[in-house]
Amino acid sequence: MSVHEFPCPSCRRVNPVDSEGREAARCPRCGCELEMLVRIREAADARVRKARAALAGGFYLDAAHAAAESWSLRASAEAAGCAFLGELLQGNLARAARWNRRLNTVTEAEIRPPAS
Ligand SMILES: [Zn+2]
Repeated sequence: MSVHEFPCPSCRRVNPVDSEGREAARCPRCGCELEMLVRIREAADARVRKARAALAGGFYLDAAHAAAESWSLRASAEAAGCAFLGELLQGNLARAARWNRRLNTVTEAEIRPPAS
C-alpha cells in the first residue's frame, strides 16, 4: 500500500487513486464517506512536510510542534519520527524517548495486515 492509497475505515478496502492522484469520495465497496478523512490526512501530511523542512533548517522546536500537530491528526511513523528528531536535537531526551516509543508502536501497527 503506497502513501496514496487509503484503506476504508469501515471495510478496510484499499481504495486506489485516480490518474490525477485523487482519492474516491466514497468507498466503492461499502459506500463509506471518505472525503473528510482524506482531508484530515492531507492536513497531517502537510504538517509532516513542515516538520521536515524545519528539521532541515535547524528549527527543531518548530519541527517538534509541527510533527506533534500532525500526530494529533493522524498517528503516523513520519510524524513520530520527526517529533523524535525535533525533541532529540533540542536535547529533550525524555520527550524524545516518548516519541520513540510512539514511533515503535505505530510502525508495528502499520505493518500488521488489515483486519478482514
Ligand atoms: Zn468501505
